[in-house]
Order: sequence, then C-alpha cells, then structure tokens
Amino acid sequence: MRRPIIAGNWKMYKDVNEAVELANSIKRAAFDMDNVDIVICPPFTDLSDIGEMLVESAIGLGAQNCFWEKEGAFTGEVSATMLKSVGCQYVIIGHSERRGYFGETDGTVNRKLRAAVDNDLIPIMCVGETLEEREADKTPDVVRTQVTQGLKGFDEDHLGQMVIAYEPVWAIGTGRTATPEQAQEVHVMIRDLIRELYSGSFAESKRILYGGSVKPENAGELMKQEDIDGGLIGGASLKADSFVDIIKTTSRVYEGR
Ligand code: PEP
Repeated sequence: MRRPIIAGNWKMYKDVNEAVELANSIKRAAFDMDNVDIVICPPFTDLSDIGEMLVESAIGLGAQNCFWEKEGAFTGEVSATMLKSVGCQYVIIGHSERRGYFGETDGTVNRKLRAAVDNDLIPIMCVGETLEEREADKTPDVVRTQVTQGLKGFDEDHLGQMVIAYEPVWAIGTGRTATPEQAQEVHVMIRDLIRELYSGSFAESKRILYGGSVKPENAGELMKQEDIDGGLIGGASLKADSFVDIIKTTSRVYEGR
C-alpha cells in the first residue's frame, strides 16, 4: 500500500513569526500521525527558521519552487542546493500559479525536476488542466503532455520518490473541488501513463496527490479513492485546525484499508 502524503502549500502567506507559530501548532497536533507523511511548504523567507524547528521531527519541509542552476547571476532565484542547505526535503515544481503567472512551461519544469533530483530533493510535480481545456474534453491530452514532457529524459532510478500532484486549475483556490470520481479518473490516467513510460511496479509505487480546494469536509471522500495517495492543500493548510483535520481524516481512511 502506498503511504499517503498531506502537503501544505502556504503560497505567499505567513511572515516568519506567523509561519513558526503555524508550524509549531501543526507539529503539536499531528505528533502521533504515524501512517501519513506530512509536509509543509512555506515561503522561502520562512524555510530556514522552520528547517531548524523541524530537525528531528517527522514533518517534512518543502519549498514552493526552485531554479535549475546551482548558483550564478540569476537575481531573485533560489537553487535546489540552497533549499537543501536550510533543511528542505521536498520542492513543489510547476504549480499552476507558477505556470500561469510566471511563464513556467513543461520545459522549465523538466529542468527544475532535474535540479531537484540531482540534489536529493523530492519533487512534487504539479499537472492539471484549465476549465476551458476540461470543457473541450482535452484533460487527457493536457495531462499526458505535461507528465511526458516534465519527465522527459528521466529513468526510474532518477525519479526515486518523485511525487505527482494532479491539480485541476479550475479547482485551485476557487472552492470548486473535482468530484472524487473526476479526480480518481485522472489519477488512473496518470498511473497508466507512468506504467507505459516506465514499469508496472514503478507506477504502483508512485504517489499521486490530488489538489484543488481540499477541505476537512471533502477530504474523506477524496482520500477513499484507490489512486488518490494524499493531497496538496492550499487554503486549508493555512490554519492548523483545518490542516490537521485533513491529516487525521486521511489517517483514518488509511487505517480502514
Ligand atoms: C494549491 O495551492 O496547490 C491548492 C490546491 O490550493 P487550494 O487548496 O487553496 O485550492
């Protein structure tokens, strides 16, 4: 059985004091959740402090982006090595807000993925269609292209613990969630594609998260789906109560499997 991950994407929220407070509350409330991997992804400015706080903790630390070069004259960018140096184990790559607002493409996602795996960071690669694409029945093609291009040139050994997050753009921050059936359908599609590109055992081992307005109220039904292996949570990860509630719900669903 795949072990679920609940990852919080804090986006551009929380200064360092607020971030430390939130991370502490999560740490206190989720200390006994031993069948779920918990990851928090605060803004860059909070990583160092939270990294120190989480030493010896089971909670993983992730960044929301990284650049592909190790160092150099790239004003405003942060490298995977730098993330590693402040205690990150994960990095979100190709979030739809990065693709939509900052011009990221499948090509840049591929380069960032390379930087992440070369530096032993676990990438959480995000894919997902817009509303327009869904309504034009293009979801399978869009997701197929994003996954195939994002993973171009990688073999199984490189990808290690890589995680994929299916995040339909129309469900992110909108309050509109994909139904469990809609999400499961795309997760199966992604797993089948991984099987086609790599092997059956690799596809079975890959964790595919769902993201898009996951809340305590809908987490249970989503996590019950066979191919949904956890969630990437935005808005609901900004409050300890709702984030921990989602973690506990996931834990209960997996206890019952
Ligand atoms: C996200 O930021 O990845 C996300 C899924 O956001 P939200 O949960 O707010 O839709």
